[in-house]
Amino acid sequence: MSRQKPLKSSEQSIPAYSSITINGESSENIDEVVDNEVVLEFGGPWGVTAMMIGFPPLMYYLWGCLNFYGGAIVSPLNRDLWKQIIDGAYPTWHATTIYVLFVLFQLFLAYIMPGPIVQGAPVPSLKGRKLDYLCNGLTSWYATLIVSCVLHLNGWFRLSEVIDEFGHLMTAAIMTAFILTIMIYVIAVATNKQHRMSGYLMYDLFMGAPLNPRIRHVDLKMFAEVRITWVLLFFITISAAVKQYELFGYVSAPMWFMVLAHFLYTNACMKGEECIPTTWDMTYEKFGFMLIFWNLAGVPFTYCYSTLYLHISSINNNKPVEHSLGFTVFCYVLLLVGYYIWDTANSQKNRFRMIMNGTYISRYAFPQLPWGTLENPTFIKTQQGNLLLTGGWWSIARKIHYTADLIMAFSWAFITGFETVIPFFYPVFFVIVLIHRVSRDMHRCARKYGKDWEEYCKKVPYIFIPGVY
Ligand code: NDP
Repeated sequence: MSRQKPLKSSEQSIPAYSSITINGESSENIDEVVDNEVVLEFGGPWGVTAMMIGFPPLMYYLWGCLNFYGGAIVSPLNRDLWKQIIDGAYPTWHATTIYVLFVLFQLFLAYIMPGPIVQGAPVPSLKGRKLDYLCNGLTSWYATLIVSCVLHLNGWFRLSEVIDEFGHLMTAAIMTAFILTIMIYVIAVATNKQHRMSGYLMYDLFMGAPLNPRIRHVDLKMFAEVRITWVLLFFITISAAVKQYELFGYVSAPMWFMVLAHFLYTNACMKGEECIPTTWDMTYEKFGFMLIFWNLAGVPFTYCYSTLYLHISSINNNKPVEHSLGFTVFCYVLLLVGYYIWDTANSQKNRFRMIMNGTYISRYAFPQLPWGTLENPTFIKTQQGNLLLTGGWWSIARKIHYTADLIMAFSWAFITGFETVIPFFYPVFFVIVLIHRVSRDMHRCARKYGKDWEEYCKKVPYIFIPGVY
């Protein structure tokens, strides 16, 4: 990582958690008001109940279409489909043991591995206190890779077993997510650690009760977001690649693409983990079904449809999916361009904030890309105290990193070809998630920064694509 030269603007003093007036309220107050404000999202109690009931069958249905019908969209009323799904995904001790051991191993690593300790943003409900986060994701990730190689090469746990057991593992993940949601809710309420409660049981189960649940120094929200989701997704893909090698003696270019895509994404989350403690998810979101289910089950078992299709198709056709050289290169270029913008945009914003707050730490995590750290960036200093970056990628669009993330998401789907629409579930779903996330975030920032946010939006008028939207 290149060492940061001092920023031109760093000489300006940044008011700490100060009490400046915004829209007639002091910044301390506005932070507390925003933090305590109950906004009924996702269609309120009915909407979230529908999601909690609907997500698991949707996951089984899409997996069933891929696994048993090669990606064809079968009627959801087809009884054979559901019989096959039950046969392929009923709960087993074997799969549940694999899943639970994996989660416990990650928890163990999160507890013991070395890493820098980073402070989060001030937590309004803790009177502005900053929590410490042990960022040992990178060392845990490397340890996981080494341990998995040792297990595989010694025949103690064949990596291809993950893809063989996919249906049963998905059930184990779904069950774990439901059990944990209820446990964490009950513990939070019983110990009076609930925060920003709406009073609607289903809504509070969905959004969660506690804000920062921890087991000693392990923050469960950050743990679930980083250590389970992406690592599991990577292992599903590496498992399919190993299986392809076992069956055909080689790994096809589209499968290598998925390995690269999921490696880059997982690795990026680990190498930039120290930027997570100050994010919105850590400071504002609570730990409920939304984060628990999505991180433990939803993301790994639905974002992998491209991998699953490549796997199933190679078995059904007795040969791996291949495309023309031109199309394959196009997909790889799309992935790498998307990754470059995504990685550097996230890094520019997060490092800017950390440098200006004096919390920046140099980490020699691979890969460090050019333009990941801005020199002399422009920014807006808000009355609230925070700084809004308007330089680098952030002069182009306010959510340029979402655009880049979407480019990658579409490249994951493109690499499967266009035989089935199911791999497009992730990018299409992701568009919806990000549009909703943008509206929530814009609302929150407009409340938080008042006139400064208006100035920022004037200065950087586009959200996703400059000149378009
Ligand atoms: P953002 O990185 O967009 O963070 C939003 C917050 O950043 C705002 O609330 C504000 O917080 C601060 N901010 C906004 N504009 C600026 C600016 N110009 N300069 C400085 N700070 C600013 O949010 P996310 O957490 O949604 O996304 C992080 C990454 O995670 C993205 O790359 C996204 O693509 C990815 N992601 C991936 C998902 C997936 O399922 N694959 C799901 C969700 C996210 P403050 O109050 O501190 O000012």
